[in-house]
Amino acid sequence: LDKLNKIFNPDTPLENHVLHDISLQVSRGELVALVGTSGSGKSTLLNVMGLLDVASTGELRIQGQLIQGHMPSGLSEQQRTQLRSEAIGFVFQFHHLISAFSVLDNVLMPLMLRYGKPSAEQTAYAEYLLNEVGLSNFIRQSTNRLSGGQQQRVAIARALVTRPALVLADEPTGNLDTQTADEVFNLFERFNVEHECAIVIVTHDPRLSARCPRTIRLSDGRVVYDGASADLPSVFTAGL
Ligand code: ATP
Ligand code: MG
Repeated sequence: LDKLNKIFNPDTPLENHVLHDISLQVSRGELVALVGTSGSGKSTLLNVMGLLDVASTGELRIQGQLIQGHMPSGLSEQQRTQLRSEAIGFVFQFHHLISAFSVLDNVLMPLMLRYGKPSAEQTAYAEYLLNEVGLSNFIRQSTNRLSGGQQQRVAIARALVTRPALVLADEPTGNLDTQTADEVFNLFERFNVEHECAIVIVTHDPRLSARCPRTIRLSDGRVVYDGASADLPSVFTAGL
């Protein structure tokens, strides 16, 4: 990201300049905590990084491809959608599982939406992921019989099924008790190492951000800290 800005409702009375000159880079294999008080712009930044929203000015590159920049070399809408579904996995605070489908079909959903009927290899990989998140006994069940932590683990498997290079998680443990949050975070840690994907996690939990090697802190839409979590000045951990 290079000098990225996001202005909602520009040139109207509701104009809201939410992201200010955000410049940062996330590399393959990194595990990054994105922190900041409510309203500081974390979700907005994640949505722009994940191509769910477009920035107003500045540049965004993913795997070297220019996404943003108001120039002809930027990707088309169709190419953006393709890149998003190939390279990026999302986990949200509310997991948005579909209870009419089985656990396995929920995990396969990103592949089905893109390619239609999943192949045997894709199904085997989804089952492998569900085994990895400890849900191999629930594969054929509906998701509405699962606990909150189990449902969030299904959402993590779903985010990983496309083997994304980048996983963006917006308060994935926000609804979970401490122990379940720890377990879910353990999974992120493991997948970060085993699959070498970059993971950016928004969290209000200082215990979890401390477990990410790097922390980025936003304040009023500006990056006020970007560095080793261990070196984060305590003045910045107040009101996480
Ligand atoms: P939280 O910790 O509460 O989730 P956040 O850091 O994720 O907060 P954002 O959701 O990114 O904060 O919101 C940042 C600012 O952008 C807020 O002032 C919010 O009102 C504004 N905002 C977010 N989405 C929109 C939108 N679609 N239209 C207009 N303003 C928006
Ligand atoms: Mg948010």
